[in-house]
Amino acid sequence: MYQLSAQDLEVQSRTRALIDEVIPYEVQAEMNRGELPAEIKARHHSRARELGLLATNMPAELGGGGYTMLQQVLVQEQVGRATNALGWMVSTPPQWFPPVATPYQLERWVIPGVLGEASECYAITEEGAGSDVDAISATARRDGDDYVLNGVKWHVTSYNEATYAFFQAKLTDGPHAGEHAMFIVDLPSEGVRVDRTPAYSHTIDHHHPVVAFEDVRVPVLHLVGEEGGGMAFAYEWFRFERVMVAARCLGAAERLIEEATAFAKERVVYGSPIIEFQLIKAMLADSLTELFAARSIVYETARGIDAGIDVKVQHAHASMVKLYASEMANRVADRAVQIFGGRGYMRENVAERFFRELRVERIWEGTSEVQRLIIADQLAKRGVSTLV
Ligand SMILES: Cc1cc2nc3c(=O)[nH]c(=O)nc-3n(C[C@H](O)[C@H](O)[C@H](O)COP(=O)(O)OP(=O)(O)OC[C@H]3O[C@@H](n4cnc5c(N)ncnc54)[C@H](O)[C@@H]3O)c2cc1C
Repeated sequence: MYQLSAQDLEVQSRTRALIDEVIPYEVQAEMNRGELPAEIKARHHSRARELGLLATNMPAELGGGGYTMLQQVLVQEQVGRATNALGWMVSTPPQWFPPVATPYQLERWVIPGVLGEASECYAITEEGAGSDVDAISATARRDGDDYVLNGVKWHVTSYNEATYAFFQAKLTDGPHAGEHAMFIVDLPSEGVRVDRTPAYSHTIDHHHPVVAFEDVRVPVLHLVGEEGGGMAFAYEWFRFERVMVAARCLGAAERLIEEATAFAKERVVYGSPIIEFQLIKAMLADSLTELFAARSIVYETARGIDAGIDVKVQHAHASMVKLYASEMANRVADRAVQIFGGRGYMRENVAERFFRELRVERIWEGTSEVQRLIIADQLAKRGVSTLV
């Protein structure tokens, strides 16, 4: 199926084996704020390392996996099969960073990230700036050989696990005043504090706190790329992450369909297994059909990126697959809850967990509305035949 090579299939089954090992811990994590005992977490991490699944997206010359985009999709698809973010130890450090990193930055943050010794979080969104990233009010002021950073960032995913943050701000003066720039802030650093750690719908041990940066001083060496270049990195990251969101949604949908089908075959109501009821068959059939459609476009998008198609077309495709796969997975989760009946509303049930967890896939890395705007803009600029 899908003309996967022997190597692609090997990557897929290697990751599947790892995720099959973590799935039995989902309920334990769900009942314990997303947390597992440290020794179990460490074991999962070392299994991922043994299986060569850390930093699959980073260049081989830096010690990363150097996987093709299609192979990265196959890996993340398997990661998506587990709830409670138990597959997140399959790390994807910032793949956009090495081409723009200075030798100092490579040594200090990129290579430790590839080795699993450092990890990042992104401090971009603010209370008044989400979809419209340009509305950020965080500032960066040059002061001698330093920059002084100020701002309050929202939803900083994995802050509690991270060793450094990418902080996006607007420059207050100089030739690029008013433009964006991105900086690295080591964690912890003086002037960085958690304002609060809100609870979210999902139950995972990566938190999304509101983080205040107050007169945080970083050397010029911490500027990523050049002044005025901050937005370009964000776009590069979004393009990659949107495809990976789509891939994880495929895995979630596959797991839900498998589990709902198994339940429908065994659950007897009015004297028959419910899979014999046509209304149940329709829900499963629609789910499977939509998964096939989503998987086909996600794999095709990854192949296009591997083939180096025009980057604007890549951008549109990344939006299309993120939009379609995330909405597909939410429909599948909703049907799965329905098929499980009352059991589907219990937190110990996989459908209930995915029903909550998948909702954010339509919000983060650009909402569904934002994806539609990007797709329509590309359509207006390039025409149908360039895009599909
Ligand atoms: C769990 C979680 C983790 C996150 N992690 C991070 C992180 O690590 N780092 C980070 O920087 N950010 C993170 N985010 C932020 C996330 O990227 C934003 O929430 C998202 O981009 C939407 O921004 P917003 O919440 O401000 O919504 P808004 O931008 O305020 O949008 C509100 C509504 O208006 C709609 N809308 C906006 N513009 C338009 C338009 N032009 N046309 C039609 N409708 C529109 C949106 O689609 C949405 O429905 C995270 C968010 C969540 C929920």
